[in-house]
Amino acid sequence: MATAPAHAQAQLLDVQALDTRLGQIVYAKAHLPQQERLLQIAQESETLADLLTAAKTNASDISREQTRADGDVQAVRQRIEKDEKMLASGAVPAKDLEALQHELQSLARRQGELEDIELEIMERLDEATTAASRYQAQLEVLAQEQGELGSQVKAQLATLAEEVTAVQAERAQLVAQIPADLMSLYEKIGQDNPTAAALLQHGSCSGCRIALPATDLSHIREVGPDEIIRCDNCRCILVRTSHSGL
Ligand SMILES: [Zn+2]
Repeated sequence: MATAPAHAQAQLLDVQALDTRLGQIVYAKAHLPQQERLLQIAQESETLADLLTAAKTNASDISREQTRADGDVQAVRQRIEKDEKMLASGAVPAKDLEALQHELQSLARRQGELEDIELEIMERLDEATTAASRYQAQLEVLAQEQGELGSQVKAQLATLAEEVTAVQAERAQLVAQIPADLMSLYEKIGQDNPTAAALLQHGSCSGCRIALPATDLSHIREVGPDEIIRCDNCRCILVRTSHSGL
């Protein structure tokens, strides 16, 4: 096929403009500005969730440690109470008195030590629960941002989908007016080339921006307007209009 009506060739430029826009929409859908941040949020959330789990495990370990320490303190207190009651009862034989007083002294010392341990445990528990709450709060902030960005993405994708529908409808109307064999040549070129039809403008192919040799240009000036001309460089259909400056 070497010819097609010049006006149909010119319409290919409109089809090409719509196809270029469809390509831009595909690119835009894959490169939404929110996507990078959403990926970042997913990674940050994963790290925070791990930290949260570790902090909660740590807190529950310390909590068990605290229960044990409370039991130890309780046992020493009971022992002290029992010894003091015995002492107060006056029923302790004189020979055992010194040993009992000695035991009370060492129990008091032990109680002091255990209470220090309890305090240290409480501090660690406080740190672990504070860390857990902090991670939890950070996760909630990220989840909120993720939700907002997700809504934006959804809205943008819906807008782009609407545009695709409109562009496709416009394209179908145009294509219906173009001879089928010209259209199939266009589609065939378009399979390997993002630009299947381009305006010949001021001696250059506006698809690949390469200037045509003077001999080609003089040949083009001689042939009829229905002749189909292809760019030697990018293989697109070179469309001549009143803007071609021939
Ligand atoms: Zn070209």
